[in-house]
Amino acid sequence: MSLLQIKNLKVSIEGKKILKGVSLTVPPGKIHALMGPNGSGKSTLASVVMGHPSYQIDGGTIFFGGKNIKKLPAEDRAKLGLFLSFQYPAEIAGLSIEHFLRTAYNNIYPRAKLRPLEFHKLCMEKVNELKVRKDLAGRYLNAGFSGGEKKKLEILQLAVLRPRLALLDETDSGLDIDALKSVAQGVKKVKDKKMGVLIITHYFRILKHIVPDQVHIMIDGKIVKTGSRKLASEVERRGYDWLKNKADKS
Ligand code: ADP
Ligand code: MG
Repeated sequence: MSLLQIKNLKVSIEGKKILKGVSLTVPPGKIHALMGPNGSGKSTLASVVMGHPSYQIDGGTIFFGGKNIKKLPAEDRAKLGLFLSFQYPAEIAGLSIEHFLRTAYNNIYPRAKLRPLEFHKLCMEKVNELKVRKDLAGRYLNAGFSGGEKKKLEILQLAVLRPRLALLDETDSGLDIDALKSVAQGVKKVKDKKMGVLIITHYFRILKHIVPDQVHIMIDGKIVKTGSRKLASEVERRGYDWLKNKADKS
């Protein structure tokens, strides 16, 4: 059974067609990569799967764990086990990370109802496991964080919330090689046998550390090719141009 099953998804924003019939599935436990040049629609796909309200769905279906989620608000999708790590995480001064994470956690796991001290313990376990700087969790959400710290914080969220499917949007962008490795290791630590991962990137480099089971290439709002991990290295060697004809023809 598939965890995420998208069929013929068509999406527009302000009248502009962005996704032009995307089909893609991610089974539980598998790591899929979604690659493609800038502007091809990768972040749009992630936002629409997560339930961002600004996008207009013109057709197609999105099933998660066998359930049609197309009309569910984002918070209900999160409760079902969907997680999106943002390409550009928001900065919210005044909102402490621990408070933010605890609120999210208690919404997703309402029976747990962790109090601040109980949650602090859980949070610190993950902070240690992921070797995140200890003071980070006490700070305000992303305020004054470096690019690397923001991405590490996304992985801390992932570790605390333990979703069934993690959509990681350009978790590698803007990272130096050490930060990249530590983010990749974090993902690998958090991922268990059941968790599906869709890792979105336009670079090959993170896929050296998080090896995908399948690779999908998106160009101009369409998946133009799906293949094994070898496809990612082919894209690294040849770029995206050789795949562009396929986008024009179909
Ligand atoms: P990618 O993540 O592959 O770089 P995006 O999904 O961010 O691509 O963008 C795909 C296209 O949709 C781009 O042409 C972008 O300008 C357009 N787009 C995305 N979000 C918006 C928005 N909020 N308003 C207008 N156009 C948008
Ligand atoms: Mg993007």
